[in-house]
Amino acid sequence: MSNGFFGKVLWIDLTKEEFTVEILPEEIYRKYLGGYGLASKLIYDHMPKKTDPLSSESILGFFPGLLTGSIAPLTGRCMVAGKSPLTGTWGDASVGGYIGAEIKKCGFDGILIKGMAQNPKYVAIIDNTKEVLDASSLWGKDTSETEDKLKSTHNNVNIISIGPSGENLSLISGIVHDKHRVAARSGLGAVMGSKKLKAIVLKGNDKVNVANSESLLEHTKAYNSGVKNDQSGAMFLYHTLGLSCLNVSAGLSGDTPIKNWGGNGPQDFPVERLNKISAAEINKYKLRDYGCFSCSVQCGAIMKVPEANIEETHIPEYETCAAFGNMLLNDDLISLFKLNDICNRSGLDTISVGGMVAFAIECFENGLINKSDTNGLELNWGNSDAIFKLVENMIKREGFGDILADGPIIATKKIGKNSEKYAMHSLGQPLPMHDPKFFNSMGRTYAFEPTPGRHTASSLDHFITGVLPRNNFIKEFTLPKRYRKPGDDRYEAMKMCAGLHQSLNSLGMCLFTYWFQTYPFLESIKAVTGWDVNIDEIIKIGLRIQNLRQAFTLREGIDLANNTLPGRVVGDPPFEEGPNRGKTVDYKADFLGYCAKMGWNPENAYPLKETLKELELDFVIKDLY
Ligand code: SF4
Repeated sequence: MSNGFFGKVLWIDLTKEEFTVEILPEEIYRKYLGGYGLASKLIYDHMPKKTDPLSSESILGFFPGLLTGSIAPLTGRCMVAGKSPLTGTWGDASVGGYIGAEIKKCGFDGILIKGMAQNPKYVAIIDNTKEVLDASSLWGKDTSETEDKLKSTHNNVNIISIGPSGENLSLISGIVHDKHRVAARSGLGAVMGSKKLKAIVLKGNDKVNVANSESLLEHTKAYNSGVKNDQSGAMFLYHTLGLSCLNVSAGLSGDTPIKNWGGNGPQDFPVERLNKISAAEINKYKLRDYGCFSCSVQCGAIMKVPEANIEETHIPEYETCAAFGNMLLNDDLISLFKLNDICNRSGLDTISVGGMVAFAIECFENGLINKSDTNGLELNWGNSDAIFKLVENMIKREGFGDILADGPIIATKKIGKNSEKYAMHSLGQPLPMHDPKFFNSMGRTYAFEPTPGRHTASSLDHFITGVLPRNNFIKEFTLPKRYRKPGDDRYEAMKMCAGLHQSLNSLGMCLFTYWFQTYPFLESIKAVTGWDVNIDEIIKIGLRIQNLRQAFTLREGIDLANNTLPGRVVGDPPFEEGPNRGKTVDYKADFLGYCAKMGWNPENAYPLKETLKELELDFVIKDLY
């Protein structure tokens, strides 16, 4: 066994109920690390282009990061990857908790699912046994019930499962671990549902070998003591309040989209309403802290909400609060807890659900639909009872909820009447809760990333965010100075961030590390793997991963280069009032500059042949040219 990884992945063919171990050479880890880097290589190689994502040939991967399973701080993230049935592009979604570390404990660097079961099944990989087992008694159960039932059969296991929404092939469904940690985006819950795979149950005893455990311990201790002593910074806020610490400030600054992206915070959802869903109010319901494997920040929390009859649930995070709060002008805090809880139980992506409800409300308010379409629901802004019932309908695929459950492209086709103008999405992915008019580099990533419409893509703003003190979170990583203005420095910075970002994800690192203290980055990689890599090599590996993700999406025939964002999202025409008044995001100029630096053809977003050769992606050339 090598250091940091096991050198093998597990293939599970559900049609044949067969398990196959594939041995991988160290070279592949040097080139793609782990996480979605390694997943992109294996899925690109094994899944033919234009595969129906909900077919037997479709492949779904579960990949912990390269550092996951070690004690390196905040490296417990796991990526779920495959082809998105929602956008038709490369799809991925990150999940925290303990599932990534448990895959490593089972002795694998990733699990790949192919084929399709005839009847509901779950896979159990427990203490070196591997079985495909009957899940008919679990089918129809929500993710919390599923975990409880499986844990009553199998001791000390970690579980990842789908709820009714994944089973019903909702294209905005995700995959859930620890009852409320969700690999939410890209609609990958439907891929798992199409395979009739209810859950994966894992328990192992293997340990990740570490090249230099003394060095790793020293750096980890120093980082964690910084977390402990941070009494005023981002880590303290995230630990004590969770992500909802952003609710009020982002709601007023212009960061959070308001009223389906058509309003402005201070006027439409002012501070007295925002305060009702503030982190202080939310945390009154906190029972205890929760956090992912190897994380000393612990930004999650377990809550009890008697007013909603909820004995135990997870804290709603910023994106969820914004999607069900600001976007819908809903200040009913208890409804946020309830909506978060039922979406997690059903396995729905809360960002997409909030976006679809906002779309429905705007259609209703503008007379495109009426009560006869909505089963009698008065879909007005802020009507939390109607919102809750509509989401229940989405989960059950009843009435108008069924129309919304497959995302904006299918919904607008079914509704017609020029309803596209109220659908705020990128290639079918409902947009996240950060406004490019505020964080302007997100315009490019929302429109042109291989996984479009994602706030967790490689936006420059992740690195330079202006609302928090700028931390030099990786000391070897320095951006060119004039990155805020159009020009060479900005586009070079975008390229550097794109590279580093893909590597961080593929190492299993939590993206919140951007806002925390200086991270022992190269030191941790070296201590775990023994590799003496420098920052330029890490960026280059990330660029290789980014180009391969891009090639996957392009190979599917997706016209990324000509994608556009809705006018109100990018201020075209500009807003006349509010914190984002007068702003128009020139995301296409950013894209052109980024293409030039990346070595891509700006007309079709294809990596040039020289670029692919330089990154040792020669095997892609035959697919694109
Ligand atoms: S900061 Fe939060 S999301 Fe990130 S690893 Fe820690 S607990 Fe998980």
